[in-house]
Amino acid sequence: MTDPIREAILLTKTALEKNASARWIIGFSGGKDSTALLKVFAAAVQDAKTVPSRIDIIYCDTGVENPVLDDYVKGLFSRLGDEFKGQPTPFRLSLLRAPVKNRFFVKLIGRGYPPPTNSFRWCTKNLRIRPVAEFIKRAAVDDAIVALGMRKDESLQRDRTLARYGGGIWQNQNEGGRRYRMFLPILDLDVGDVWEAVFGLPFPESIDAAKLAQLYRGASGECPIVKAPQAAPCASGRFGCWTCTVVRKDRSSRSLIDAGHVTLSPYLAFRDWLASIRNDSWRRWPYRRNGTVGLGPFTLETRLEILRRLKDLEKQVGAVILPRAEQREIMRLWKLDSQATSRSVINAGEG
Ligand code: SF4
Repeated sequence: MTDPIREAILLTKTALEKNASARWIIGFSGGKDSTALLKVFAAAVQDAKTVPSRIDIIYCDTGVENPVLDDYVKGLFSRLGDEFKGQPTPFRLSLLRAPVKNRFFVKLIGRGYPPPTNSFRWCTKNLRIRPVAEFIKRAAVDDAIVALGMRKDESLQRDRTLARYGGGIWQNQNEGGRRYRMFLPILDLDVGDVWEAVFGLPFPESIDAAKLAQLYRGASGECPIVKAPQAAPCASGRFGCWTCTVVRKDRSSRSLIDAGHVTLSPYLAFRDWLASIRNDSWRRWPYRRNGTVGLGPFTLETRLEILRRLKDLEKQVGAVILPRAEQREIMRLWKLDSQATSRSVINAGEG
């Protein structure tokens, strides 16, 4: 075991002992960093004299997670549930989901939001950050601590932001009017340490390190679930949404397809098409929702086309991508927008 891993376990053990009455929450994406974090926690819990009565492990199910990786994480969650059952363990598992109105396709097809880019990245907040903030709020405790598998050498951008926030393993957060602390015990681990922790630390036993390594094949990075420090674009790494257009190319899906996960090909083709139509002015309202002139939401015709293509994709891959509740919300939003546009056409005619 390397020294940085031993140090991370010791830091976590001490933090747990000193903050045994706090509500501990581990942000888990299924990626290598959060897996290393979970293993460090499991080791620290075994060593600690006092541990909190409850440590939540949360996973944000965005509904558009890369299907291969989403299957892996949900399978892992189910095995972890079995492993923890009947054990005197503080770990509790929770899958978090954004409310229907904030889901990816409701925003894109229902409201006509253009696919996200770095300068209009509406998704991370709706799909990941808010559900986590809500979870913390519902926990209704004064002292919440969110542990994340963030590391210094992940990206230059993250290093700079970490430096701005003091760069330490403890950071203060304020989200949705609620203050909490972030704990980043693997901040100083490099990629080699991370894999050593994933393979070398024994618990939880249900983690299949070889399977995880096989899913990676050289990619890194995870989509952030807290507001700051901001991370690099998500699909530049491995675990993120299959719809992600924040990066120019979805290298994550591409390399998974090259590794044999050909079921992802239709998803990638849909994502590429979405990215390609984003800036077609004829597909967008000529004004924004706030009334200013400029590229606004997708037109209702384009939203209908996206919906049709999405239904075709569902048939192709044999999976439900758009749950009924989201479809219903999309129809409701279309109705509102078609009433609004016909009103503005009448007004324009009268003018
Ligand atoms: S992975 Fe991409 S699409 Fe998904 S929340 Fe992150 S930035 Fe948005």
